[in-house]
Amino acid sequence: PAALQFESVGKTYPGQSVPALSDLTLTVARGSRTGIIGRSGAGKSTLVRLISGLETPDSGRLLVQGQDVTRLDRAGQRQRQARTGLVFQHFNLLAQRTVLGNVTLPLELAGQPRQQREQRALELLEQVGLADFARRYPAQLSGGQKQRVGIARALVTGPDLLLADEATSALDPETSAGILDLLTRLQSERDLTLVIVTHQMEVVRAATTHVAVLDRGRLVEEGPTRTLLAQP
Ligand code: ADP
Ligand code: ADP
Repeated sequence: PAALQFESVGKTYPGQSVPALSDLTLTVARGSRTGIIGRSGAGKSTLVRLISGLETPDSGRLLVQGQDVTRLDRAGQRQRQARTGLVFQHFNLLAQRTVLGNVTLPLELAGQPRQQREQRALELLEQVGLADFARRYPAQLSGGQKQRVGIARALVTGPDLLLADEATSALDPETSAGILDLLTRLQSERDLTLVIVTHQMEVVRAATTHVAVLDRGRLVEEGPTRTLLAQP
């Protein structure tokens, strides 16, 4: 099955007259690097919340790895969330925890024993180039380093989907490029589906092979990044 399949998905927030997403039909192929691009208000955050399970569609269906997400029980929901790694714009690191403590957190919540989760987190920190920073605190890191911690945390539960939500929007261009290189490297090494949600064309160009364009809650275009976002 596809990694994600939106089938005529509609979502309108309570009290709003205009839908946040309208009749959205979109397939994200397993193992792809797919960009979702759109201006402010296009529906990107809503799409992220549907994928991460924070919202459910009002109409239509969303299938994750072929499973209808509205039909999952609580255990199924938890499992699905562990299989989706989220990377945020503002990193969402806990200031009182060390780098290692931030990366182990998802495993702690899953009840994994300390030694096991620390070993696993250290492996991930190694892969993002931060092995020597395990005992530091987020405040002691640069923006790019914080995002590497965010990526390690997103991958620590072994997800098959990595969802980057404006993950480079708070970073300067050079740091952004480094993070996009890391995401694409991890995608191929770990055979992940990488979904990059952004308002920045350069980000989609640099890191994706397929792109969907949203505007005011609707899918307006979809296809290979090279043809759709060809440089004039
Ligand atoms: P973005 O464009 O990055 O989503 P926004 O400033 O539009 O940023 O939204 C910030 C937060 O406020 C998001 O969680 C979004 O869902 C929420 N939000 C956006 N529009 C509304 C609204 N009309 N009413 C309530 N919350 C909103
Ligand atoms: P984007 O992330 O592309 O900026 P959003 O998904 O945040 O788009 O917003 C899509 C539409 O839904 C906008 O019109 C926004 O105002 C509205 N919206 C988003 N979140 C909320 C919310 N929590 N409550 C009400 N309206 C919202």
